[in-house]
Amino acid sequence: MIPMDTAAPIYLDYAATTPLDPAVIAAMTQCLATDGGRGNPASLHGWGRRASARIESARAEVAALIGAAAEDIVFTSGATESDNLAVLGAARAAADRGRHLVSTRIEHKAALDPCRRLQKEGFAVTLLAPDRTGRIDPQALAAALRPETVLVSVMWVNNETGVIQDVEAIGALCRERGILFHTDAAQAVGKVPMAVRELPIDLMSFTAHKFYGPKGIGALYVRAGVRARLQPLLYGGGQERGLRPGTLATHQIIGFGAACTRARAALAHEPQRVAALRDRLWAQLQSLGGVHLNGAGAPRVAGLLNVSIEGVEGESLVTGLPELAVSTGSACNSASAEPSYVLRALGRDTELAQSSLRFSLGRFSQLADVEAAAAAVRREVTRLRALSPAQEPQPPVSAAQLVGEAGGPGREVWIRFRLRVEAGRVSEAAYRVYGCPHTMAAAAWLAEQLPGRAVADVVPGTPQEWAAALGTPVEKLGRLLTLEDALRECQRRGAAV
Ligand SMILES: *Cc1c(COP(=O)(O)O)cnc(C)c1O
Repeated sequence: MIPMDTAAPIYLDYAATTPLDPAVIAAMTQCLATDGGRGNPASLHGWGRRASARIESARAEVAALIGAAAEDIVFTSGATESDNLAVLGAARAAADRGRHLVSTRIEHKAALDPCRRLQKEGFAVTLLAPDRTGRIDPQALAAALRPETVLVSVMWVNNETGVIQDVEAIGALCRERGILFHTDAAQAVGKVPMAVRELPIDLMSFTAHKFYGPKGIGALYVRAGVRARLQPLLYGGGQERGLRPGTLATHQIIGFGAACTRARAALAHEPQRVAALRDRLWAQLQSLGGVHLNGAGAPRVAGLLNVSIEGVEGESLVTGLPELAVSTGSACNSASAEPSYVLRALGRDTELAQSSLRFSLGRFSQLADVEAAAAAVRREVTRLRALSPAQEPQPPVSAAQLVGEAGGPGREVWIRFRLRVEAGRVSEAAYRVYGCPHTMAAAAWLAEQLPGRAVADVVPGTPQEWAAALGTPVEKLGRLLTLEDALRECQRRGAAV
């Protein structure tokens, strides 16, 4: 979503992935450059034993960060795999006892998609909706549990809003009933202090690259005694006690361990520093007016700020902010037509879900980054709002001025053309538009084609031709049809006067 030609934008996308900590780079480089890269940790010779010893010390570092024992840690390729192993593995192993799962509508796809897969395998899945603040009510969860429920999966911290769930209360409800409880903690580990062994959590997924470690390595915490209640996804050499076979990636695991040790030290001060930056950013954005905080009223992690901004479309906003690396809940360029399902589940309408920005801050964020981000957002929001039909008083229609409008407030497109007419021809074309970048580009391009055209012939070709000229993707053709509607209205009005 960020144009690739932009030189080093300010990085405010820590929830997507984090830069590597220098201590992690040093540990991994040292491992790769010396003997750590050589032996297979399963081998019994000296090289293998050295690799294995390094892995076991990294495993202890990982366990220490979350308050687990080293033997509770199963290394995986990341949180996606850990979620799959937990959800598919626990459900399939329990299929003879019951075929019902409970999860939520705001989970990451890495947990939701395995639930969908299980539906195909004959499981019933209840997906709970959050309240308006983004929290799952433990009482609502209790009410959804059935005698045949075998697994509950609720994320610890939401990756879009930063809202923290009451995993302790939810886990306690599960434990009372003997139901396994899994939590996706990819956004919690390294940000929230935790002692997982003291909590009613059976399975917990996390991943190194969300807290300054390398991509492609993560873990599943498996509480003592729960191993036997999991079916593996892979079969092979028996590593990780058969739960996740395959040669362990020594350098990745060492980077993961180093990231955990750094995170454990940073937990004492980093959240406060990052929260202060986030609060500063929020104060600046709020002063724009019409800015809504997603997850307001719920406890949230320090580094995340998700806002919906009235009167602008998220994709156009992000495209206008090439100096910032941020995420949007808008779906203009993604395969799905739906904007953020998480914000929709919080009760945001499509328009506000489309106009959301997720800022995520972290270890290397500075006050200057936040100030620059706020200034850039202010500039773009002001520009886009000024371009929107919402900001323009309804123009009068006359023989000398034709007005055509289509789409409207709350729709994905809102367009208004205003054509000055002299002797039956367009002398000047102005427009106001709200919509995605494809829509904005097409409106600007059309307005350029219009001067000199006869009013009777004011539609320059077909939307299919415009799409071809502008490189508009086929699935966005509907938006160009709306632009055509507005021009046809100008044409009709021109014929009537
Ligand atoms: C990033 C993330 C994942 C996926 O982690 P990978 O290591 O990239 O597979 C899963 N769940 C949540 C909540 C995440 O933020």
